[in-house]
Amino acid sequence: MTALVGHPATLFEPTSDAKVRCTACARYCTIPDGSHGFCFVRKNVGGRLLLLSYGKASAVQVDPIEKKPLSHFHPGTRVYSIGTVGCNWRCAYCQNAEISQEHEVVGRSLPPRVAVAEATKFGCSGVTFTYNEPSIFAEYALDVIQEAHAAGLFANFVTNGYMTPEAVRLIGPHLDAVSVDFKGSGEPGFLRKYVAATGPEPIFESAADLQKRGVHVEITDLIVPQVGESVEATQKLARFVRDELGPSTPFHLLRFHPDYRMMDLPETPVATLEKLHRVVKAEGLDYVYLGNVWGHPLEHTYCPRCGTIAVRRLGFTIKSWRLDPENRCRKCGEKIPIVGRLADDYVPSFATPIS
Ligand code: SF4
Repeated sequence: MTALVGHPATLFEPTSDAKVRCTACARYCTIPDGSHGFCFVRKNVGGRLLLLSYGKASAVQVDPIEKKPLSHFHPGTRVYSIGTVGCNWRCAYCQNAEISQEHEVVGRSLPPRVAVAEATKFGCSGVTFTYNEPSIFAEYALDVIQEAHAAGLFANFVTNGYMTPEAVRLIGPHLDAVSVDFKGSGEPGFLRKYVAATGPEPIFESAADLQKRGVHVEITDLIVPQVGESVEATQKLARFVRDELGPSTPFHLLRFHPDYRMMDLPETPVATLEKLHRVVKAEGLDYVYLGNVWGHPLEHTYCPRCGTIAVRRLGFTIKSWRLDPENRCRKCGEKIPIVGRLADDYVPSFATPIS
């Protein structure tokens, strides 16, 4: 663990009296000289914004891409997953609170070239920014992505989507895929109380903007029982996805596990997830999954035309692949919109911490 000085950020604009306005996320913090933004990793030093967590990884792991979750993007591949410290949200049930809510910038040194060299060494097909919100360190992510692309790897974000048009303009043209992670279906009261975000509008806008730029988008929705389950909010989110992103956008309903400051709630009942699955399907979405419910039949990809299982899954493992070389259903010929296909020599992989 090493203290550091910081790297010049580009996502900011000067205001007055040596203050700066950070434009990396929808909080748009106005930061006086010598102070940090809400995420603690962006600091005004003499009227310039520094990214303190540039090149400092708090967590590095090789993961199956299905863990992100991305089910329709290069299935069966491994991704080199990078997290730093800090976050622009305060999720009361955060599973990575020890890094996301850390105020001191700590971690191992991980320059972009080293990250990509390690990704290649461990047989990864891509790099993923995850564990904490990547838009708060977009400048670092961008440099890693450019190295990754030069090495033939893809790049994706696991993001809460609370981004700005400025951040999307910077990073969007370089991203290959995103998993946009809604909480409690983006219901405004839930976001205010349990996440410390003002509302879902920036998330809707960023997801749509990223997709228009050609980024592959999958949606997740973590359902917290009792306080974060709303048929109306899930319906609204499903309609947004159908109308703005398209009915073939993969939609993952995730089960909550007690963590951090929300240890007193149970796991989301499977029946609740199944009910919300029916709600989303009723809005016309073709590919709706349950996540964190290993062994459930709604982990599989079903052909929307004939109903046959096209891809059978168990957790993050693909058990069978029943698509032809053009990703068409082998029974009825329906095209299943999956980027890439399962390698013939696919071997299931498991999460492997690197540091
Ligand atoms: S990235 Fe950090 S400093 Fe910038 S607006 Fe968001 S919370 Fe504030």
